[in-house]
Parts: sequence; C-alpha cells; structure tokens
Amino acid sequence: MLQFRPEYCIAASAAMLILLIMFFMKRNYGMRSNRIFFLMLIDCFLAAMINISTFYVISFPERYPLWFCYACNEVYLFLYNAMAVLLLLYIDSKTRIASIKKLMRGICMAIALFDALIIFTTHWTKLVVFYDENLVYTHGPMMRSLYVTAFMSVAIATAIFNAKHKMFNLYQVLSIDLFVVGVFASVIFQLGHREYVISNFVCAMVLFFIYTAFENQAYYLHGDTLCYNRRAFIKTVDLLRFKKEEYMLAIIRVADFENIRHSLGKMGVDDLSERIAERVCRKFGKSAYYIDLDCFAVSRSVSVGAGVSKKEIESCFEEQYLLQLGDDEVPIRIEPDLCFVRVNDTDISGSEMVELIQKLPEHYSEYSSAVLYADELIKPIRREKEVLRLIDKAIRNRGFVVYYQPILDVEVGSFTCAEALIRLKDEEAGLVGPEEFIPVAEKNGRIHEIGDYVFRDVCRFIRENEILSRGVNYIEINLSPEQCNRVELANQLITVAMEYGIDFRQINLEITETAEMRGQGVRNMNRLINNLHDRGVTFSLDDFGSGFAAIDYLIKLPVDIVKIDKGILWQAMNDEPSMKILKNTIRMIKEVGKKIVVEGIETREMADLLIRNGCDYLQGYLYSRPVPEEEYLEFLSRSEEYLEAL
Ligand code: C2E
Ligand code: CA
Ligand code: CA
Repeated sequence: MLQFRPEYCIAASAAMLILLIMFFMKRNYGMRSNRIFFLMLIDCFLAAMINISTFYVISFPERYPLWFCYACNEVYLFLYNAMAVLLLLYIDSKTRIASIKKLMRGICMAIALFDALIIFTTHWTKLVVFYDENLVYTHGPMMRSLYVTAFMSVAIATAIFNAKHKMFNLYQVLSIDLFVVGVFASVIFQLGHREYVISNFVCAMVLFFIYTAFENQAYYLHGDTLCYNRRAFIKTVDLLRFKKEEYMLAIIRVADFENIRHSLGKMGVDDLSERIAERVCRKFGKSAYYIDLDCFAVSRSVSVGAGVSKKEIESCFEEQYLLQLGDDEVPIRIEPDLCFVRVNDTDISGSEMVELIQKLPEHYSEYSSAVLYADELIKPIRREKEVLRLIDKAIRNRGFVVYYQPILDVEVGSFTCAEALIRLKDEEAGLVGPEEFIPVAEKNGRIHEIGDYVFRDVCRFIRENEILSRGVNYIEINLSPEQCNRVELANQLITVAMEYGIDFRQINLEITETAEMRGQGVRNMNRLINNLHDRGVTFSLDDFGSGFAAIDYLIKLPVDIVKIDKGILWQAMNDEPSMKILKNTIRMIKEVGKKIVVEGIETREMADLLIRNGCDYLQGYLYSRPVPEEEYLEFLSRSEEYLEAL
C-alpha cells in the first residue's frame, strides 16, 4: 500500500490561508479578475484541505463508509481540475479580448460541466476512479479525460495570454509561465511518485507569484491615504470603456493651488493633499481617486440617479484643514473647484481621461458646476495628438512648404521684402495651417526642427533666385520664443547662412513677446540680437500691441522694425478709440526711430490710412496672400502692373 505524505498539502492550505487573509486585509479593486482570483485561492485552499482527508480515505478505505470515500475523491478531483478552468477565466478577464468573451465563457462552462458530469457520477459509472472489490483505489478509463480537459484549458489560456503578452510586464508574464510549467511539472512528477502529492503545494506557490504580480493592491493605492491612485483611475476608465458604459465624473480641484503651494511649500502641500484625499476617500470610498496633488475624481454610474452632488463634495471642504508645519499647527480653508464631466463617448481610454482632466483648468471657472460632455472635451486633445503625428510625419518626409507673402515698401513703391510663412502639407490630411501646428510644435519641442527647416529653405530660396536682382532686399523669418531661448541658435543660423553663402543683410528675423519672456528671456533675446546685428541681420518685433508688455520690449530690445498686429488695425477700422490708439502707436514707434510694418491690410481704405500716418511697410491680402515660391517670383515680375491696377 502507498504511504501518502500529506505535509505538502498542509503547507499548501496554510499558504492559501495566509494569502486569503492578505487578500482581505487590502482594499480590493472589485474587478472581475479580482473575483476570479479570489475563487482560485478558495479553490486551491479547499482542494489542499480535502486532499489531506482523501489520503486517509484512500489509505484506509475500510474505516469509512464507501460513499464518503467517493465523495472525498470526487470533490477533490473537481476542485483540482477547476483550477485550470479558473486560470482560463482569469487570463480572459485580464486580457479582455471583447470578440471572444462569449466564446471563452462557453468553453469554460462546457469544460466545467463535463468534468462535473464524469467526476460526480464515477461512483456509479466507475469511469474516473473507483474502489475495486478489495477496496483498492483505482483510476478508471476516463481519468485521462480529466487530464485532457485541464490541458485544454491551460493551453487556451496560454495562447490568449501570449497573444496579449505586450499588455503585461515581465514579472507578470513570468508568473503565468511559472503557473503553467509548475502545474504540468508537478502532475508529471506525481505520475512517477504517487506518494508525493505536491501539485497543490506547487499551485499554492505559483498563486503567490500571481498575487504579487497582478493582485498587488498597493500598486493601485496612494501611499498612506489608501485612496485609489491615478493608475487605479486609468484602469477603471479602461474597464468602463471595455464595458461601453456611460458614467459621470466629478472632478475636484483645489482652487488657487499655485498660491497655496507658494505659501505652504512642498511638504505642506503634500500634507494638505493627503488630508483632502483622506476626506474625499472617506466620503466616496471606492469611487474616489487621487489623480494629482490638487486634483481628485469621483466616479458614479449615470444609471444610478444623477451622480455625485455638489453638496456632497463641498461637505468635504466645509471644515478647516489643520496642517502640521514644523512646530506649528496651521489651519487652512480650501475652496473646491468643481466640474462634472459626463462621459458619453465611452471610447475614451484611461490615459486620455487623465489628460482631459489635467487640461480642464483652462475652462474651469466658466463652467464651474455645469455638466461638461467628454466627447466635446476630448476632441481638441485628440486633434492635438493628430497634429503632432502629422508634424512628426512631415519632419520625416519633408512635408513642410515655405510660402512667401510680399510686403510693400511705401517709400520705394515696390515689394522690397516678404515674410516666409510655413505650411504643412499632408497627403491624407491636406493643408494644416501654422496657427494650428506651430503652437503644438512649440509645446512638444518640435519647433527647433521646424525652425531649422524654414531657415534653410529660405537660405536656399535666396541663393537660388538671387532675390536682390529681383528687387527684394530681405526675407522676414519668424522665430518662436522657444527657439530664441536656445543659446546655440545664433551660431546655428550663422553656420547655415554661411553654408549657403548668403549676405546676412538679406535676412530679417521676427521675434515675438510672450508672458514667460521676463528676465532671462529678455537677456537671451538681447544676446541673440546683438550677436547677429554685428553681421548685418535685422530684427522685427512681431505682433506689436497684441498681448503682453509691448512697450516694455520696445524699450528693452534693440529691434529695427516693429510689426503692428493685424488685430489692432482691424479694431481701429471699427471704433474711434481704437483708431486713436493705432495712430498714436504709429507715432510713438516712429518717434523712437523704428520702421513700421502693418500686417492684415485687406482694403484700399486701410492702406491709405496707414500711408497717411507714415507707416513704412504694408503687408496683407490686398496685395497678396502668402503663396508658394514660384507664384511669389511670378508676382514679383508682374508687381508693377499689379500696383498700377490697384
Ligand atoms: P504672423 O507671424 O503674425 O504672420 C502673419 C499672419 O497673418 C499669416 O498667417 C498671414 O497669412 C496672415 N495675414 C497676413 N495678411 C493678412 C490679411 O490681410 N488678412 C488676413 N486675414 N490674414 C493675413 P499664417 O501664415 O497663417 O501664420 C500664422 C502664424 O503662424 C504666424 O503669425 C506665425 O506666428 C506663425 N508662423 C508661420 N510660419 C512660421 C514659421 O516659419 N515659424 C514660426 N515660428 N512661426 C510661424
Ligand atoms: Ca510674423
Ligand atoms: Ca504678426
């Protein structure tokens, strides 16, 4: 008679008990895969426990009633085989391949039913196991079928997992591989050494691995607050997307956060943020998420009432927060900035949603407690991504084209200069305007490559067409503030201009003011101007009068030309006060000795007005739109006739 060794099963039950306790101690994510994992733990635990009694039953069948002997064996066999089906369900819930969802459930159901059928009838049929006339435990002819169904489940699970392995990290892949290899190895080992029943033990060990790889809740919780973190939020949104479920998000922001950050310092802000998370989490439990230091989200299904109410959220902020700053306890009152987003476009992914939330502040105060619709909010975010993709494609495939817009020199009476304006031409998307793609390129660091392209192409154009002989003195090229902040810009431009053998006087660089251009920005700009002025490059201050401290820059930057923004001109044509401002702006610029360009001239009336007021250069659709270089050259050759006709 075989002498079974129950130690391994005892160890397996103990391990599963510990894992079950760990599983319950942590907050659970409540997803389908969590529930299946829980079933796997219970299954492994019960299988190991029952296995111990099965040893005694098999070893001493004469001591127990026969039905009891069969019952122990049947339950054990079913639980043990169920592990393979549970693994398949688990992998299915982790990989979430929508198209095979129903098929998978069908297969699992069929296997489980088949197993149950042959196992729980074996005391009559003697197909799987039976006790012979000497009460010796014997395998029946269909014992192999159990191996086959288990093998099938594991094989399908492995195939699905491998097809989607990119969704997982190395540790997760290893833990599943270990499960498969471990369980197979233990079964094979057991066939040769029937006294060592190690398969439950091996199963328990690999479940530990799977637990740390997949079910580690710390991954989804924020530090000490135990509030769900951004990862958990992304996961939830992805899950809702998979289920195609509409839902509502309440986005809570700390109003005036920048000032609070200033006065509290980094430690204080971290502390405050955790206090808020605690309250929000206590109030909303599993539906609260800690997205950022100053941002929390609460999700509610739309089918259950009207979602989260403003009052409920505000109640988290009614009481003051007491912060420990050094030795002092500082009370602070926080104003929540609330926004409700209804996610009606269920195809928004978790990471897109985080981006959407982070981009909300721009519109915040306007909407405050009104409901926003996610499908509207996601459009500009997706468009920006698309534009960035087009930019990168254009950089790779040289998809940019430089257009030229002629500028009229009033005194000379001809088009002695032009502005180079870039266009993006894409085969599928068509023409994308610079108003749209330049800001995207600036934000994503692509502006340097684009700037380099424009500068090179203009140098080539100047060189190839000997523009001086066509009456053109220089071409104006736009520089983005981001480009000007690069110390090496001046040298780069010099190198390229020398490469093409260009006279530096044929280049005019247009610079713009920005809000960030204080202090260091102005110093960078000054260095750039001085550096290139020495060689003969001239500078224009673009978009004068739109936006920021225009006069300040006029004083601080040694530019040669000032370009008055078209908005100022257009406004002046509409009302008298703006007209006065335009006229006085022109007078002021002339008095400090700079030349003036006005852009956006669309009518004869505008041109006359500006000429009367002493502007030096005029640029606008009245003369020409920005056009490709051949058209520009053509325009130059016919410009005299053109001006006469005007
Ligand atoms: P900007 O530098 O202010 O350029 C003038 C813009 O006004 C051009 O728009 C031009 O087509 C437009 N414009 C000129 N006259 C008229 C007119 O009479 N009526 C109207 N409605 N518009 C007129 P565009 O080409 O779309 O360029 C937009 C902006 O994109 C430029 O504004 C500039 O900030 C930026 N940009 C264009 N090319 C470049 C470039 O090569 N580098 C950089 N950094 N920015 C560029
Ligand atoms: Ca410009
Ligand atoms: Ca401009």
